[in-house]
Amino acid sequence: MGKYDFRCVECNEKAPELHRDYSNGILKITICESCQKPVDKYIEYDPVIILIDAILCKTQAFRHILFNTSLNIHWKLCVFCLLCEAYLRWSLLHGSEQSSDPADIIRYTKEWEFYGMFGLAALELSAFCGGVLCFLWVVVGRLQGGTPELSLVLRALLLSCYGKVLLIPAVIWEHDYSPLCLGLIKLFVLTSNSQAIRVILNSSRRFSLMAVCFGLLSETCVAQACRKLPWSIQDMLTSE
Ligand SMILES: [Zn+2]
Repeated sequence: MGKYDFRCVECNEKAPELHRDYSNGILKITICESCQKPVDKYIEYDPVIILIDAILCKTQAFRHILFNTSLNIHWKLCVFCLLCEAYLRWSLLHGSEQSSDPADIIRYTKEWEFYGMFGLAALELSAFCGGVLCFLWVVVGRLQGGTPELSLVLRALLLSCYGKVLLIPAVIWEHDYSPLCLGLIKLFVLTSNSQAIRVILNSSRRFSLMAVCFGLLSETCVAQACRKLPWSIQDMLTSE
């Protein structure tokens, strides 16, 4: 990381370092020049506490993760979440024809429907991210004359989709998932997305919500198009 790449988790002011290493083994946390609080209190915290604060959507925890760590798992996390989502959709498709025969499960893994669902989930996620990035590019880049760092926003969006991991329990206890449960997971993911955009752009809550709504609109349009158009992938899959 370059000079002044870190951010104070409390006030978002840029900082040159998170801690200073005095050669005799003493580490001292840097104090923010702007708010006089530790630049990043989370460097001392256990990852579990950071995760809990992130789940609670605390801006400080989001700033720590998005600015002060080089966490680079967003693409892996994205594929993992898509696999969970694809499996869930695929099993909903087969909801009516449940079978307890283990041979069936092995046979099912070869089915193209699963890959089709993965493709659909990936397409919808791309539409969501594309919608949010377009909105930010137009509003922040063109209308407000700012320079939104779209690669940072994309990383933040993908990382903040971690709530989709909650689909795993839904997959494991497959009789328990309900529209309400899936709706709550979706709401949580969107809240995290909105908080991530808010932190990256240091914008108001209303602005980040607007960006997320625009992304959601774009995702819904693509999802509807995939279902309605004559070349519908889902139709091709289900008509077999
Ligand atoms: Zn500060």
